[in-house]
Amino acid sequence: MPYTEDRASWFEGQGLWQHIPERDWRDWTWQLKNRITTVAQLEQFMTLTADEKAGCAFANQKLALAITPYFFNLIDRHDPHCPIRKQVIPRSGEMVVSEEERLDSLGEDGHSPVPGLVHRYPDRVLFLVTDRCAAYCRYCTRSRLVSNAQDYNFHPEYEQGLRYIEAHPEVRDVLLSGGDPLLLSDKKLEHLLSRLRAIKHVEFIRIGSRIPVFLPQRITPELCEIFKKYGPIWMSIHLNHPKEATAELKAACERLSFAGVPLGNQSVLLAGVNDDAEVMQALVHRLLRMRVRPYYIYQMDLITGGAHFKVDVRKGVEIIRSLRGHTTGYAVPQYVIDAPGGGGKVPINPDYVEKITDDEVIFRNYEGQQFRYPLKSTPTQALVEGMGLNGAVESVMIT
Ligand SMILES: *Cc1c(COP(=O)(O)O)cnc(C)c1O
Repeated sequence: MPYTEDRASWFEGQGLWQHIPERDWRDWTWQLKNRITTVAQLEQFMTLTADEKAGCAFANQKLALAITPYFFNLIDRHDPHCPIRKQVIPRSGEMVVSEEERLDSLGEDGHSPVPGLVHRYPDRVLFLVTDRCAAYCRYCTRSRLVSNAQDYNFHPEYEQGLRYIEAHPEVRDVLLSGGDPLLLSDKKLEHLLSRLRAIKHVEFIRIGSRIPVFLPQRITPELCEIFKKYGPIWMSIHLNHPKEATAELKAACERLSFAGVPLGNQSVLLAGVNDDAEVMQALVHRLLRMRVRPYYIYQMDLITGGAHFKVDVRKGVEIIRSLRGHTTGYAVPQYVIDAPGGGGKVPINPDYVEKITDDEVIFRNYEGQQFRYPLKSTPTQALVEGMGLNGAVESVMIT
């Protein structure tokens, strides 16, 4: 069925939780306390499919089940194929492990000089500061340790991580992730950011977080003050589908932007969720309207029990092709595969170049028309300095 959306409207309101005082609804600690974490709670609200029931039975041994009331409202409870539902409600596919899959599919543990710190690229580190999230994505790349359902023995060590960064002047870029860093208290977050800001060689600090999407109430004025104080802090948020772009999220992005936080978005290409050009077009346009620049689309990592989310790479390339040239370059993310085993992110792009030689480059545009750009120059006429070709002296009037 082709995707259509009402571009003028932004979902808002308390949905199933009309009876809750608005003050509670807007309180992020209320949202966390009232998360849906059991099958029984889910079944109060919706009829689970057999596939979901089987997945739920297993979920807490793999990756905890948790959904904030705010995000649960975005699910179409009468549609078993709802793209929001598939992201947070376990299915039986999580139990199926394929040969090419790994618990630590990106080889992060092997690139970890101290617990909770991944140093893969020369100039930047990934600093895992917690294993908790506001809600759990069933395709989580770090499901081995996130939510601690598998007893992975993950203990974030802030002090060791900070000392490693202090001792390594080549680290100019620190990415806080987890788990979700914005689940830390303001006090802890402020401590981390102030320590990082005090390190002279750390030039670029960013946070990877899905909190704005799961729990926009967490983006309080107090939190924004911290970002202002230690800025520039950049942030990558994580939307997969235009339905996640609500009035509440838009307002949270506005608060972040006004606090000087540049926003990017990372999506994962997910079967039955966003493996569709029209859905992705709608998503990237919504993102721009919320001041968010689409940054990456990830090919699904080869984590254990993730195959039911996997999309053909050719589909991803086709989605990028459907964006490039048809809409602004600001709306076109990089499609990447994070190399299995730990090679880093590699762009997978549609091919526009047909041939490059010493003389020329031959390429096609977004409509498929072929063009030639000569690389060798053949002078035919000399210009007189300061004059245009017709001999007139250029003048600029400033009025
Ligand atoms: C994704 C990632 C980064 C950040 O990569 P960018 O391309 O700079 O966004 C850094 N370290 C690790 C280990 C990563 O997986």
